[in-house]
Amino acid sequence: MTSPNRWRRPATVTAAVIACVSLGSGVASADSTFWGGKPGADGAGDSYYPQDGNGGYNVDDYNLAVDYDPAARQLDAKEVISARATQSLSSFNLDLSGLTVDSVKVDGRTAKFTRGGEHELTITPARTIYVGQHFSTEIVYHGTPAPIDDPALGNNGWQYSASGGAFVAGEPKSASTWYPVNDTPLDKATFHLAITVPDEWGVIANGKERGTRKGPKGTTHVWSEDTPAVPYMTTVAIEKWEFDRTKLSNGTPVVNAYAPGTSDATKAAEGRLPEIIDFLSSKFGPYPVDAAGGIFLAEPIGFSLETLSRPIYSGRAGNIGTIVHENAHQWYGDSVAVKNWKDVCLNECFASYATWLWDEAKSGVDLKTKYLAAVNSASATFWNSPGNKLYDMGAGREFTAVYSKGPMALHALKNTIGAPAFDFVLKTWPTLHRNGNAGFKEFQKYVELVSHKNLQGFFDAWFYVAGKPAPEYLYPGDLGKS
Ligand SMILES: [Zn+2]
Repeated sequence: MTSPNRWRRPATVTAAVIACVSLGSGVASADSTFWGGKPGADGAGDSYYPQDGNGGYNVDDYNLAVDYDPAARQLDAKEVISARATQSLSSFNLDLSGLTVDSVKVDGRTAKFTRGGEHELTITPARTIYVGQHFSTEIVYHGTPAPIDDPALGNNGWQYSASGGAFVAGEPKSASTWYPVNDTPLDKATFHLAITVPDEWGVIANGKERGTRKGPKGTTHVWSEDTPAVPYMTTVAIEKWEFDRTKLSNGTPVVNAYAPGTSDATKAAEGRLPEIIDFLSSKFGPYPVDAAGGIFLAEPIGFSLETLSRPIYSGRAGNIGTIVHENAHQWYGDSVAVKNWKDVCLNECFASYATWLWDEAKSGVDLKTKYLAAVNSASATFWNSPGNKLYDMGAGREFTAVYSKGPMALHALKNTIGAPAFDFVLKTWPTLHRNGNAGFKEFQKYVELVSHKNLQGFFDAWFYVAGKPAPEYLYPGDLGKS
């Protein structure tokens, strides 16, 4: 898909051109200095991963046409990126790890490009792109994708399964291992994929199925994700899938894909997805995505991930708790994404707490008992480790305390501000920031606004510093009563 050039020249620039013309200078050409075209930033400036993502534009849509041969591990692709410039650009960057770029066009004209750094693809269009301009970038590329080795999570991005298939999963980055991308949570875009594989293979990706067609190279599978996605929430997985299709209570299509060997217990757990999403909707507000389902790998990878509309599950991780967690992320993490990686508690603390709420509602678990047991069993090492902070915990420590201390902190918050205010916050926050980004300190302000309380002491004790919270924060409200 390409976008029409709907840009308009800014009024001030138009006036400058008129002035030049009236003075007889005749300078009306698209000279990049005159027009202020500058290179877009080569990073989006995250405090942990400053080089990930880029500046100077926002992507509206990725449209990928991919041929993939599992036997040869060979990927041949043509990508069209529709974007809008947020500054006048003499050049701009995309992120791409490995692979070989064959050609680049911007608005139909051949563009120069260079590769550099960890994953920078720098594109210099034939003509300056003006601020506000919608522009289309077509990239032809090929190669054998390789995962990024992450010290905490293992492999991230495009990975190979023992069956000979392949799948994409990773956080904080993953997409740049198989397509050029503005790899930052700050730039969400719709995602359209047509992927051709030999007939014996199946394909699952994000969003809605748009059918298949047979051709000389195999079967083309078309998927369409029209809910704006953070790049690392996009995925594709090629396997000899068993598919299961149903609908949510509101008619949203559900597609589940099970790798050969998936247990009946996992299929039964995923069979409860409509019930799980109805439950989560009762807590977090309307389901914010246009499709649902799950991708159940055979491989026991190091994590499961909340890929948009359709989480991807590590082999043997297909249990109810994990399914509730990953689907809770569709509200907290996907629809509302982090502004910076230091805000990751907005994803993980909430998804982890969702399993507490599920256990309370479905299994009669008493959350006060569960909370006090967690506090009583927490060691000094637990409280005092450097990664124990729930905000700005440091690069490489994002995925530690958020799962254990995170839900405890939210339960303590509920008992500090009271259930009505807490439930209201949980249910309205995702709607307030739907399809956007939010920071953790904005969340604090919102909780203070709703509860009419100054909660700085509480947030310091639980989120902003490591160490065991003082008794007033550890045993608020009903939690302090025997
Ligand atoms: Zn999670």
